[in-house]
Amino acid sequence: MNTKWVYFFGDGQTDGQQHEKNLVGGKGANLAEMIELGIPVPAGMTITTDACTAFYANGEKWVDGLEEQIKENITRIEQSMGAKFGDKENPLLLSVRSGARVSMPGMMDTVLNLGLNDETVEALAKKSGNPRFAWDSYRRFIQMYGDVVMGVDHADFEQALAAERVKYGVELDNELSVEALKDLVADYKELIQKSAGKLFPDDPFEQLRGSIDAVFRSWNTARAIRYRQINHIPHEWGTAVNVQAMVYGNMGANSGTGVAFTRDPSTGENVFYGEYLMDAQGEDVVAGIRTPHPIAHLQEDMPAVYDELVAIYKLLENHSKDMPDVEFTIQEGKLYMLQTRSGKRTATAAVRIAVEMVAEGLIDKKEAVLRVDPIQLDQLLHPMIDPNAKYDVIATGLPASPGAAAGRIVFTAEEAEVWKNRDEKVILVRNETSPEDIGGMDVAEGILTARGGMTSHAAVVARGMGKCCVAGCSAAQISEANKTLTFGNTVLKEGDWVTLNGTAGEVIVGEVAMVEVQVEGNFGTLMEWADEFRALGIRTNADTPHDAKTALDFGAEGIGLTRTEHMFFEGERTSLVRQMIFASDKAGREAALAKLLPYQKGDFLGIFETMQGLPVTVRLLDPPLHEFVPHDEPTMKKLASEMGLSVDALKARIESLEEINPMLGHRGCRLGVTYPEIYAMQARAIFEAAAELTKAGLKVFPEVMIPLIGTVEELRMMKQVCVDVANVVAEETGVKFDYLVGTMIEIPRACVVADSVAEEAEFFSFGTNDLTQMTFGYSRDDAGTFLPEYVEKGVLARDPFQSLDQVGVGALVKMGVEKGRSNKPNLKVGVCGEHGGDPASIEFFHSAGLDYVSCSPYRVPIARLAAAQANLRNPR
Ligand code: PEP
Ligand code: MG
Repeated sequence: MNTKWVYFFGDGQTDGQQHEKNLVGGKGANLAEMIELGIPVPAGMTITTDACTAFYANGEKWVDGLEEQIKENITRIEQSMGAKFGDKENPLLLSVRSGARVSMPGMMDTVLNLGLNDETVEALAKKSGNPRFAWDSYRRFIQMYGDVVMGVDHADFEQALAAERVKYGVELDNELSVEALKDLVADYKELIQKSAGKLFPDDPFEQLRGSIDAVFRSWNTARAIRYRQINHIPHEWGTAVNVQAMVYGNMGANSGTGVAFTRDPSTGENVFYGEYLMDAQGEDVVAGIRTPHPIAHLQEDMPAVYDELVAIYKLLENHSKDMPDVEFTIQEGKLYMLQTRSGKRTATAAVRIAVEMVAEGLIDKKEAVLRVDPIQLDQLLHPMIDPNAKYDVIATGLPASPGAAAGRIVFTAEEAEVWKNRDEKVILVRNETSPEDIGGMDVAEGILTARGGMTSHAAVVARGMGKCCVAGCSAAQISEANKTLTFGNTVLKEGDWVTLNGTAGEVIVGEVAMVEVQVEGNFGTLMEWADEFRALGIRTNADTPHDAKTALDFGAEGIGLTRTEHMFFEGERTSLVRQMIFASDKAGREAALAKLLPYQKGDFLGIFETMQGLPVTVRLLDPPLHEFVPHDEPTMKKLASEMGLSVDALKARIESLEEINPMLGHRGCRLGVTYPEIYAMQARAIFEAAAELTKAGLKVFPEVMIPLIGTVEELRMMKQVCVDVANVVAEETGVKFDYLVGTMIEIPRACVVADSVAEEAEFFSFGTNDLTQMTFGYSRDDAGTFLPEYVEKGVLARDPFQSLDQVGVGALVKMGVEKGRSNKPNLKVGVCGEHGGDPASIEFFHSAGLDYVSCSPYRVPIARLAAAQANLRNPR
């Protein structure tokens, strides 16, 4: 059977299933679906993603059969539209657009007005009775084609256009006369010949071939690749290409074009929301050069069209049970829908829409919980401007993407990346952003543009990224050349601080105080529903009462990891820890430890009290020793005198402790085995705190965790140290308290011998940071030098320190769980590596049968939602 490379719109290519979307792309599937719903869509065809991947496999040539199938479908489009491609009297004009499985807004190329040449332009002029429109379309086509297909710099065309405006003494493009436009067309063609060394092609099918190739190739432009990396979209998918009959929104006062959402994509409010421009093409709305009107005005401009649009949006929303966005064109009073898809929305909107749709009976609670992307919740967990802060707003723009951000201003995407690499917070300031700016937008705290509406590139991309954005701030005068941002008399230079309030569209000079957010309202409701559906427990990694409190407020059910070494890095304690480490004998160590004990006990009192009887896993000391080594002369002198040593003696002591590979050196339980008094002191601090609070009537539940176990012997020995101390403390205080002693599983060997480790362990917690380090053999300290390149080159799909390597490291996790439980069926098992807050990894831990995940406080809501989704998709 011949492969079907091309589908005519509405020819049954969509059953709404994913495999169909994979083949014809999201846009192609949605167009077909609209046709099936009886919504007016201009005729067209979709060239499949398989044709794109075959194009690449074929040395960038069309696969056999593609040309014939395209030609057959052109005939069908001609029949449907009653016009003919290349015809000198009634020409059919086409658009060529990309359409991958998932939307990649603005990342790939588009060609419009295809099929125009010196002859068909006259026919279009005659047919439309509007020569200005015909010649303007022609010059737009040459400009787009020259840029996208023939590689001529966009700026050169803009320059030629500007020159024409000067020559004919007009200010705006739409004031150029037919004569001027004809002149411009000739200039453009000359420019192409000079720049590209080739003539602009007159033959419509040649134009089509060039455009389809360009769209295929635009899958692999630097910006598209970057976008896929940021959004974890596989490079091998390829894009489909949609070839569709053109309809025109710029055929005069009776025509127009716009973009709309069935709800407000910024707040989620249930109102029809959008923007449009009369006598304009789609790019005019998004390019941000003319400021569009709110959609409600259309009711006055064209009431019948507005009513039809409202009916269509309701139909689409009821059909998709989601918030679609639509692009539409009105050609001489007739409405056409150009595309629809699931609309991009802020996290605030996503949560509100999901919760309200349950109330409206459109979806159920389970569906609502599945609707919101856990990663997107991150946006809701970012600070907002302190309501009590006093500040002056220097200018206001559109509230394009909510939240607040402060940073130093930079004027190009490249600078943003450079500053970010220096650990600076930046605000990217642009007249308007373009897809090339994607990298800079990604690293910026927030984005400010002088031009563009709520659907401008900056606004759409910022919302998708969950970044605060103020767009269309017309009071801002931006000079990229001088690196200045001017508001009236105030001139800001590169590096000056600015605060943006994306929720209100405010721009503030300087840095304003921020406050943390609360899980309440719709967000709180969604989280409660998530809790109904999840099987995994959610704990947090917290080293201080403050972090513990934050996590509790976000819904944590316990602490899965308190790293005690962090408690040793503060003020006077650092010196005591150093005295302990560099002591030459046990007596010296014990003297230092005795002074540390009250500090440690204070830490645990604070944390236990905050957690109010919820389990608190305290990990005994696990520092790579080199982290404590002093380097500067004054500190060394001070330490030597505190220890009663000469500086040289101290230096000799430090040198003797130096390790070649500290990550694999004398750390974790190895430290406890060689210096049991350290773990004994920590155990005493934990148990004394537990006894004291228990006596005071509070509930306390410590779980002592031994790090870096590779053999059961290590655990047995360290556990004995803890149990002995617990018994002594219980006797001394006369208080009975509950506790567990368990272990981290973070060394591959521990997974392999987990059955024997389980004999001693009262719980397991996977330390997937170390487990990843040791399974791959990538040093956590040094992986930064090559891992980004590994991901870029596709050696690894993702950074395994961020998202669990499920087939490798994950297999060890599964082995550890199975072997551990083979010996102790009810063994409690959790995870406390960074992966505990990563939704994809959480899904894996759920299916591996873990009891809980533990993550940083700000990830707790994300983990709650991800755990619920995992259980809804794969119930246990
Ligand atoms: C781990 O290794 O996963 C872990 C949680 O411990 P740390 O990151 O402190 O080594
Ligand atoms: Mg570790």
